[in-house]
Amino acid sequence: MQDANILIVEDEEPLTLLLRYNLESEGYRVEALARGDDADTRLRELTPDLLILDWMLPGVSGIELCRRLRSRDDTKALPIIMLTARGEESERVRGLATGADDYIVKPFSVPELLARVRALLRRSKPERTAETLKVGDIELDRIRKRVSRSGRDIDLGPTEYRLMEFLMERPGRVFTREQLLDGVWGNEVYIDERTVDVHVGRLRKAINRGRENDPIRTVRGSGYSFDDRYGKPA
Ligand code: CA
Repeated sequence: MQDANILIVEDEEPLTLLLRYNLESEGYRVEALARGDDADTRLRELTPDLLILDWMLPGVSGIELCRRLRSRDDTKALPIIMLTARGEESERVRGLATGADDYIVKPFSVPELLARVRALLRRSKPERTAETLKVGDIELDRIRKRVSRSGRDIDLGPTEYRLMEFLMERPGRVFTREQLLDGVWGNEVYIDERTVDVHVGRLRKAINRGRENDPIRTVRGSGYSFDDRYGKPA
């Protein structure tokens, strides 16, 4: 399992199908949209780990969408691979100046695209391999599998620990209950989505004492996220 969510925004359906098939075969979770404006809306609800973005799109163009994403706090570091048709290569400089991390000219080979995806995810997610995650006064030690807050150890069950680790690895990203079930419990077991709420409740009870701020945000109609503003000055 590659444990990453990829959003494809591409209006050529055969290409979307090809990309989806190959990325899913590699274990990535894939969502695809065909319009730039739809992608803009979707990206306000959910931040993927990587975006594959076509240059020319109906609604809002890829380049405009890229510019918008780079100007927003929650998406300014989102890894973006831009796709473009042959003949637009001269626009390469403009593409990168707009903020795409990488750039691929169509037609491209699938293995090359997969290699770029892997490389970009590796570069952008150093925290996935860090031994300690620290946000504000909360520290998660992956070696000891312990969480502490302001120096006091917090007792967590194994599921609450994994849930905390999963959310802390991706601050600011909103996960649906289904995505949390996939990421924390594994998608081979069938568990009711309400189970997620129960464990989030237990996690909150364990980490929040008295009037301490809750680092876990409930996003109505969507799910949960680790608040990316947590521990930062207001
Ligand atoms: Ca296109």
